[in-house]
Amino acid sequence: MSFDTSTLYLFATMVAGMLGAMLLFFGNQEKIPALKWWGSAYLLGAASVAASTIAGAMLGEIASQALNVAGFIACGMVWNAARVFHGRKPNIPGLVLGAIAWVGTALTLPPEQQMLKLTIGAAIIAIYACLTAAELWRERRRATQRRWPALAIPVLHGCVLLLPILLGNLLRPHDAAFGNSIWVTVFSVELILYAIGTVFVIFMLVSDREVTAHKTAASMDPLTGMFNRRGFAEACARVIEREAQAGRPVTVMIFDIDHFKSINDRFGHPAGDEILKLFSAVVVNSLRITDLSGRIGGEEFAALLPCSLEEGVIAAERVRECFQASGIVCEEGAVETTVSIGVAGGPAGTELEVLLAAADTALYQAKRGGRNRVEAAEELPLSLENWRRKTAGLAPQARERQIAA
Ligand code: GH3
Ligand code: MG
Ligand code: MG
Repeated sequence: MSFDTSTLYLFATMVAGMLGAMLLFFGNQEKIPALKWWGSAYLLGAASVAASTIAGAMLGEIASQALNVAGFIACGMVWNAARVFHGRKPNIPGLVLGAIAWVGTALTLPPEQQMLKLTIGAAIIAIYACLTAAELWRERRRATQRRWPALAIPVLHGCVLLLPILLGNLLRPHDAAFGNSIWVTVFSVELILYAIGTVFVIFMLVSDREVTAHKTAASMDPLTGMFNRRGFAEACARVIEREAQAGRPVTVMIFDIDHFKSINDRFGHPAGDEILKLFSAVVVNSLRITDLSGRIGGEEFAALLPCSLEEGVIAAERVRECFQASGIVCEEGAVETTVSIGVAGGPAGTELEVLLAAADTALYQAKRGGRNRVEAAEELPLSLENWRRKTAGLAPQARERQIAA
């Protein structure tokens, strides 16, 4: 079975063009600039290939070079789409550099150097392909799914989209038989498959990002930008497992801002929110980058440190002192910013729930002891069930009453 090469190319460019239009439409609708870049790149690439296929030998030197330039710009646009997708600015000089290099080559090289010209053209496409791959590779850690199809398919597609132009140059002046060879047929079919594969990859990238955004939103506290209780627990589980494998102890602390209700009452809720943000900054700045922290309740925060209880207590003291020294003054007067902290440490592999339970008991002692202090848990609850039963009668309000008494 043999196909007419021009028909196949036209079909391939129609698929690429339709794909481009679809990406452009979707990008406009969903306001995703990268999709607009991708869509425009495929439209431009498809148009340049289609024009050189249809017009073929009828094109003059200038017109055919203009189509080549459009093709190189399409390649640069694919690379820029990947940049924009990852929140980087489009690189306009980089976008046109390939086309400029091509024009320079076409103007300076004599006609008999056709092979060298083609090699330079292929090198320009390869450089754009590498840049696109590098862009996707840099961001692979943020992805929740495997990225290799996203890496391979757009790059190959970008290459394949432009190869007809090079092939056209290769074939047109010389051997007509080569144009009908099976290789060219295979190549055209491949082009169609890549064009379709790209749709899957691009939508995979977009959906992956949506999933990541939703996951992040579900595990973050919007006020402070810290982990919320869920995000904190998930992150802690990973750190605890890692530390357990290394046989290292972990320490957990719970922070509860003192008399926060009265701060809200005296200075207003928005001022209270600012104090919460300030406290989160104090926690993040006082702890190490390897420590985890989160807002686990209204004015309650928690942290997990991969260290011993003794080191944890020193870190907690640092947070307490730093928050007390914040020196916040409102129109209504100075805001007293103090925090009570319960700390609990456990041997390698201790569960987060157990550590939190012990830290909570220590926090309760810190409140009872007069607030603005750090209290270390003397022991870990042997059984969480027993501990829950023991503290069940002490619901937060009941505990507050007891503390106040
Ligand atoms: P204690 O020293 O015993 O911890 O006293 P407290 O006043 O800090 O504790 P209590 O549990 O009585 O009050 C907590 C307050 O935190 C009540 C609630 O209105 C306030 N709060 C919870 N979430 C937020 C928030 O997001 N913003 C603000 N501004 N206040 C909040
Ligand atoms: Mg509280
Ligand atoms: Mg409080």
